[in-house]
Amino acid sequence: MDVYLPRTLPEALELKARHPEAMPIAGGTDVMVDINFDRHRPTALIDLTRIPELAVWRREDGHIFLGAGVTYTRIMQELPGLRAWFQAARTVGSPQIRNRATVGGNLGTASPAGDALPVIAAHDGEVIMISARGERSLAWHEFLVGVKRNALHPDELIAGVRWRTVRGPGSFSKIGTRNAMVISMAGLCLLLDEEARAVRVALGSVAPTIVRAAEAEAFAAAEIARAGAWDDPKATLSEGTLAEFGERVTGAAKPIDDIRGTARYRRHACVVLGRRALAWALADRRG
Ligand SMILES: Cc1cc2nc3c(=O)[nH]c(=O)nc-3n(C[C@H](O)[C@H](O)[C@H](O)COP(=O)(O)OP(=O)(O)OC[C@H]3O[C@@H](n4cnc5c(N)ncnc54)[C@H](O)[C@@H]3O)c2cc1C
Repeated sequence: MDVYLPRTLPEALELKARHPEAMPIAGGTDVMVDINFDRHRPTALIDLTRIPELAVWRREDGHIFLGAGVTYTRIMQELPGLRAWFQAARTVGSPQIRNRATVGGNLGTASPAGDALPVIAAHDGEVIMISARGERSLAWHEFLVGVKRNALHPDELIAGVRWRTVRGPGSFSKIGTRNAMVISMAGLCLLLDEEARAVRVALGSVAPTIVRAAEAEAFAAAEIARAGAWDDPKATLSEGTLAEFGERVTGAAKPIDDIRGTARYRRHACVVLGRRALAWALADRRG
């Protein structure tokens, strides 16, 4: 196996153009597991860990750009104000995994259980891809095309993800078979967008890829408006309305039975995660 060690982005892009079959490796927390279990035997690896352009995040013109090479540990240390991002990063693996694993790797693997992915979806994130031919971007739902499938071309690398800054509370929560070091059985990111007076809800692990619960989002935004809570954060929603929101969230799920859990349990998990997340967001607004 050849291992390429580019030190600059142009060098990496040139290598990927010349060797499109070469597999990028960032933290290696998915790649090395697959190699160890003999699920993949790539003829070449391109190590991306030396490329500074991929390891940056920045605020730009009302947006945030998060480089593909930023690790979960850095998200927790450098972006604690982005609550949903922080909470998702904190749930990934163990400290050792979080020190290595990157958001670009989560996008590259494109597992429905990738914890960064519902957060990207709830933020309406776009994925930026780069090659020697130039740059292009796709909305998250155009990039994630199926179970462990994405729209990346063989000569491209993921540069990062970008989203418009959202003003309002939000959270990420997940359910698994234990409290830590667990791949989620169901995951949910909820954001209240105060400017657009909208609620955004994305689900992981309960469909072939990440889904948004559009019907539940519209229901919650209308109920918040009906309660006058967009203007008055002290106003709140009844337990019954929160429960109905949870039921509508689960309507977006298309879960299956697998080794981690049953479809029935996953549907129930979505009800609970949805209801709790909306209640937390409203409580945050009340201060
Ligand atoms: C013990 C353990 C626990 C885990 N727990 C969790 C968890 O709780 N939640 C979770 O979501 N995941 C978990 N994972 C999976 C893994 O850590 C994540 O998917 C992580 O985000 C992968 O990042 P990485 O940098 O290690 O990716 P890598 O393994 O380096 O790469 C993964 C894939 O992305 C591609 N890739 C990486 N960077 C780029 C790029 N810039 N451009 C193009 N392609 C790229 C690679 O070619 C490969 O296909 C766990 C893994 C382990 C081993």
